[in-house]
Amino acid sequence: MTASIADDLVVGLRYTLRNDAGETLDRSEDDDPLQYLHGHENIVPGLESALTGKKVGEKLVVVVSPEEGYGARDAAGERKVPRNAFPDDVELEVGMELVMEDTSTGDEQPFWVKSVGKDVVTIDMNHPLAGVQLHFDVEVLSIRAATAEELDHGHPHGPGGHDHH
Ligand code: ZN
Repeated sequence: MTASIADDLVVGLRYTLRNDAGETLDRSEDDDPLQYLHGHENIVPGLESALTGKKVGEKLVVVVSPEEGYGARDAAGERKVPRNAFPDDVELEVGMELVMEDTSTGDEQPFWVKSVGKDVVTIDMNHPLAGVQLHFDVEVLSIRAATAEELDHGHPHGPGGHDHH
């Protein structure tokens, strides 16, 4: 088996993500490690480059700048829109991610609900972690070759990966 992490390999990770204040923002479940396909932008660039060449069992602490993470925050990405711009059957909750589609181009733009008022909803096109310096505690659990289908899709399948098909 391949000894170290390189492009086109499926990597299993245990991780904890914290912000500068040391608050845990996200972590993998003990029985469900993150699986990603190396070299296919499944994870933020700063973490992916730090993992290149690492082996199973290696632990590392990686500090990722916003530029190498979810990007800088763009204040212009925040907007107020009327509540009635959303379909009635959408239950709006703070922190929920939605996608708007430009019907003329078919482009999809994700956005996040920042606050919900009676008549006005504040949305933010910035990723919730934009502008945040990311502190990853990572352990490499597994490395394997990707299947042709996984390479074609650009993400892993099976446990911990995409299971949409
Ligand atoms: Zn797939």
